[in-house]
Amino acid sequence: MVRWFGLGFGLWLWLPAMAWAQAIGGYAAGCQVNARALPASGPGFYVIRSARERFYGQPPLIDYLQTLGLKAQQSGLPPILVADIAMERGGPFASGHRSHQTGLDADIWLRPPPKHPSPHRLEGIRAVDMVDHRYYILSRHFRDQQRQLIALAAQDERVSRIFVHPLIKKAMCRAYGEAPWLGRLRPWFGHSSHFHVRLHCPKGDTLCEPQSQVPAGTGCGQELASWLNDKAGAITAGPRTPFRPLLPKSCVGWVR
Ligand SMILES: [Zn+2]
Repeated sequence: MVRWFGLGFGLWLWLPAMAWAQAIGGYAAGCQVNARALPASGPGFYVIRSARERFYGQPPLIDYLQTLGLKAQQSGLPPILVADIAMERGGPFASGHRSHQTGLDADIWLRPPPKHPSPHRLEGIRAVDMVDHRYYILSRHFRDQQRQLIALAAQDERVSRIFVHPLIKKAMCRAYGEAPWLGRLRPWFGHSSHFHVRLHCPKGDTLCEPQSQVPAGTGCGQELASWLNDKAGAITAGPRTPFRPLLPKSCVGWVR
């Protein structure tokens, strides 16, 4: 009896720390606790390449993605394709991008889903580039449907920023003029077949390190021009040092 009481008391002390989902650390050096898995499909969305098991995120991100799927469906858009979110415990991927470590980042592909989206098809699906890199223009694949989806994705107040190719940002500026959410669309190379959504740190996640606010305004002027003139990618170039982020103390031993 005494032992049971002791065990119960121990659990009671331990549970509050573990019962809440939390994003810990920075987007590119962190981990997550009590992540939720995005179901393989739902109204207006499919998870692609799920064998990689990168479909775990913090509850606000999972809710965001499900809501975006619903909004896409209500707007008559095809289901969205959700690619990498994060691993169950977060931390750095063995390959691919550096962020996606705290369950607050998600990649959404810009191509429409295949006609018959069987699990097998969704696993081996190929990306479609929205940019014709030879002429440095948007390809014929980038249409109103893609513009509408990015606009829906950017309007959610939980979004800190969305990375898109500079040419896509330019197209969004043309289509949406002075829309206040345009500032959340951040030009970045390598985002021509998908866009990358990053949410703010959830309220109460005291160990989550926020990123600086995006600059005020739409970002459609000078800033975008500097990206468009940088066709060789000098802005983001630099020595690629081997990537081993220094993780926060709470993540050490928790992630691989
Ligand atoms: Zn990404």
